[in-house]
Amino acid sequence: MEQLKECILNSKKIVVKIGSNVISAEDGTVDRNVLYNIVEQVNSLIDMGKQVMVVSSGAGVCGVGAINRWNRRGDLNYKQAFCAIGQVELMMAYKEYFADYDVHVAQILLTRDDFNDHHRTLNIRNTLFTLIDEGVVPIINENDSVCVEEIKIGDNDTLAALTAILWNADLMIILSDIDGVFDKDPKNSDDASLIEAVDNAEELISSISIGEKSSFGTGGIRTKIEAAARVNKFGIPMILLNGTKHDIIRDSTRGEGRGTLFLGTIGK
Ligand code: GLU
Repeated sequence: MEQLKECILNSKKIVVKIGSNVISAEDGTVDRNVLYNIVEQVNSLIDMGKQVMVVSSGAGVCGVGAINRWNRRGDLNYKQAFCAIGQVELMMAYKEYFADYDVHVAQILLTRDDFNDHHRTLNIRNTLFTLIDEGVVPIINENDSVCVEEIKIGDNDTLAALTAILWNADLMIILSDIDGVFDKDPKNSDDASLIEAVDNAEELISSISIGEKSSFGTGGIRTKIEAAARVNKFGIPMILLNGTKHDIIRDSTRGEGRGTLFLGTIGK
């Protein structure tokens, strides 16, 4: 898709959000092959002169897998503990893989309150800008262990959108385990076709039937489209790609990848 290629090539500041189902294997461990390939691709973007912030999910599921307590997945205290455990698993993997490229990573854990408080927002901005200036890749997640359900951002699609807006990014890429947005749920309909470009994300939310949430990610397709609507309002395009596909970002920069591009008003 030529439009995807142009959009990535023309963007300097890129937020890449990686979903839980992309980087966790079925047993709740970090899927090392997939994560390594994503790290390779982020480094390719950096080599192209781009700046990248990563918003990574996966702490919850990797925590369950680490201590093997699948039967406690629904308990609030365990959910928060799982995220504390899994966050370490994730960061260890990111640190190890980025080190192959001599790139440092930094962990940033944020809450909704951080975005609502002017001083905290300024501090986050300063930290993020400094990290980027130093060539360090920020790896951002929600600070799940300190947030109860009621006050959480709740899903990292929204967190990535808030981050992209805060940083004034040029592009947000969401890596999920689906190829993009379809006109029908592809799991139930063989004739579902991929929607390649969306001008009005808000309209799309009401016009398509939105399928089931994925098993580990908290968002599903709805929060992805809502995140697109959110960033589009600020003139930031969003691309939804299947992050489980090897080299999907690199393919997209060569015009060979498929996904959904949310252009917002930029496309008009
Ligand atoms: N913060 C959660 C985690 O790392 C994921 C949130 C989401 O799936 O969007 O497990």
